[in-house]
Amino acid sequence: MANSSCSQLALVTGITGQDGYYLASHLANLGYQVVGTSRSNDSNPRLEKLIEGKSLVLEKLDLLDVNAVQRVLNKYKPRTIFHLAGQSSVGMSFEDPEGTFSSIVTTTRNLLDASLQQSSGLRIFIAGSSEIFGINQKETVTCSTPTNPQNPYGTAKADAFHLVRESRKIHGIYACTGVLFSHESPLRPQHFVSQKIIRGACAIAKGKQDKLHLGNLSTKRDWGWAPEYVKAMEKMLTLEEPRDFILATGKLNRLEAFVAQAFAVVGLDWQKHVVIDEQLFRPNDGSHPLADTKDATQYLGWTATTTMTGVVKNMVDACQSHVHH
Ligand code: NDP
Repeated sequence: MANSSCSQLALVTGITGQDGYYLASHLANLGYQVVGTSRSNDSNPRLEKLIEGKSLVLEKLDLLDVNAVQRVLNKYKPRTIFHLAGQSSVGMSFEDPEGTFSSIVTTTRNLLDASLQQSSGLRIFIAGSSEIFGINQKETVTCSTPTNPQNPYGTAKADAFHLVRESRKIHGIYACTGVLFSHESPLRPQHFVSQKIIRGACAIAKGKQDKLHLGNLSTKRDWGWAPEYVKAMEKMLTLEEPRDFILATGKLNRLEAFVAQAFAVVGLDWQKHVVIDEQLFRPNDGSHPLADTKDATQYLGWTATTTMTGVVKNMVDACQSHVHH
């Protein structure tokens, strides 16, 4: 695959993550050749299984090293880049703000800078986040809503979002941000509250534990289904002009409703098992805003069809049948 310029060659950074897996699988099914990058060479059975029979290769890459990024772009000459890599947890961003910043902003800058040396047809998708809007906004947000992040992760994502817009204006690069609201799957790591709730409810239903300790249940989130979101990412790079999009279901639910639903699916009353633990409250926590999803529907023909109850059901089903890919 190396050294060939193929109109269908896509580079996916962060392929070992949740979205990386679903996007690589989706792109391969659409006939793309996929080069996925990771910081490590560690074996990854889930991806190795996916590679079987698919046009997919893995490449070790440190995205903080602009020369290494340049080398990989020269080697594969991708026509599309999907930048998904980066520290992706708000909670962890308080513990490592600097590492979070560089993994999101420096890697984005390196990809944009390196892409200037490539052919003009290159198109780049950057994974953004609803955390750029901050919390407790009264108004529905669009891509024109001013950013107001409230944690180190959101600040880094906001910087990357502005960097992409700047590169588009100054250099005319085809680059765009998908402002992603929460999207889940069985591949979500355990340190995300969604997966903690699902695994907790399943373990309690099996009699392996009795209590689940959680933080603030009154915050609202917009939860979607990850395999649907990667389809919108691919569609974004097929538009004639680059454009940022909000990718969300457009429906908000309290975390309490997510918990209640998870326990209901396994046949339990959540109030008998959940313990509210103030030590688990996060600084500057609050509700996410309501997302305006009209543009994605109008320009991409994309709508998130699985909303919170469906997401929970799918995750519980996978948990109970041990399907973690
Ligand atoms: P994951 O955390 O599952 O995967 C991200 C990948 O990035 C990891 O597999 C890892 O790959 C790489 N990575 C992790 N930390 C670093 C770091 N410090 N420096 C460089 N690379 C790192 O994320 P998702 O798949 O869930 O999300 C994909 C993207 O979408 C991320 O940018 C995330 O911030 C964003 N996003 C996701 C949302 C969601 O709900 N899932 C919501 C909003 C935004 P490796 O270790 O192999 O290098």
